[in-house]
Amino acid sequence: MARVYNFSAGPAVLPEEVLKKAADEMLDYKGCGMSVMELSHRGKEFKQIFEETETALRQIMAIPQNYKVLFLQGGASLQFAMVPLNLKGKNKKADYVHTGQWTKKAIKEAKKYIDVNVIASSEANNFTSIPKLDANTFSKDADYFYIATNNTIYGTAYQQIPDTGDIPLVADMSSNILSELIDVSKFGIIFAGAQKNIGPAGLTIVIIRDDLAKGVADDVAVLLDYKTHVDAGSMYNTPPCYSIYMAGLVFDWIKQKGGLKAIQKHNQEKAQLLYDYLDTSAMFSSPVEKDSRSLMNIPFVTGNDDLDAKFIKQASEIGLKTLKGHRTVGGMRASIYNAMPVEGVKSLVAFMKEFEKENS
Ligand SMILES: *Cc1c(COP(=O)(O)O)cnc(C)c1O
Repeated sequence: MARVYNFSAGPAVLPEEVLKKAADEMLDYKGCGMSVMELSHRGKEFKQIFEETETALRQIMAIPQNYKVLFLQGGASLQFAMVPLNLKGKNKKADYVHTGQWTKKAIKEAKKYIDVNVIASSEANNFTSIPKLDANTFSKDADYFYIATNNTIYGTAYQQIPDTGDIPLVADMSSNILSELIDVSKFGIIFAGAQKNIGPAGLTIVIIRDDLAKGVADDVAVLLDYKTHVDAGSMYNTPPCYSIYMAGLVFDWIKQKGGLKAIQKHNQEKAQLLYDYLDTSAMFSSPVEKDSRSLMNIPFVTGNDDLDAKFIKQASEIGLKTLKGHRTVGGMRASIYNAMPVEGVKSLVAFMKEFEKENS
């Protein structure tokens, strides 16, 4: 069976080389006669996988020594609660920038534990841009400052990371981690569900500056305490072993591709192909303001629901899959994560051109 081009927002496309390697090692991992899924998480084989995976991620992202890397479960959504539970200080207050559905959920969750100060929002323009931030409006006494660096549903992304001074900056990077070079030292916590740009679902990566894992209140579940996971090296209980192994294969693949600098260039080229066409097409357009556009998730519309449906159906028939936009936005969305080859984007643009010609 032929592979298709899968534009799903998540779980999403993985590199074919990685899937092949995993398939090769499925029944017998490196001569141990077992699948990685069957290995004890405390045995020497898995210990090696785990250590190499962390080392590779540290190397790729140039993670400073004073940051811990945690391999957790619960998805990015559990971080919406863990962040306030762990970072709330005497002020019990944080600043949030509201840029879409995922920050909405994060804000709702945080409000259970602390005062949330929404310092900027792009809700008024249906989240088609990242709001302009004015540092004078930031709370001086916030326990942390929260952003989602890339908004998977709306296709917006920060072009510049806000400078929050001494206030720890917390970032949901679920849909753009590893897509470009970032300076980890600007952040207090970075977290990401794996299923967009890292590997299979079930793994959540948290990169946390070590002074921020200071422990939670006594009545908070032990698994919700970053300190539990820091102290136990992510092995307080069974970690998502197979997803960690797959993430490790993806990290090796990124290294082989030349690291994040090369990946970023590749991602910029892919996104440019699509945006260039959207900006000249008479049929398709991008609803996102130019200075807020994501490299990873690119929504587009014709403005006609029937035409959108026809496009999605015909695209699917020729192997351009999962292009339907999020139910709250409509239209189409192409998620073009690291593992989407440039050929996939070229095929999409070629089909859009053909469709436009035939239907106008
Ligand atoms: C997908 C996504 C989430 C939710 O992730 P889960 O792992 O399903 O909890 C949160 N934030 C962003 C930006 C996402 O793209």
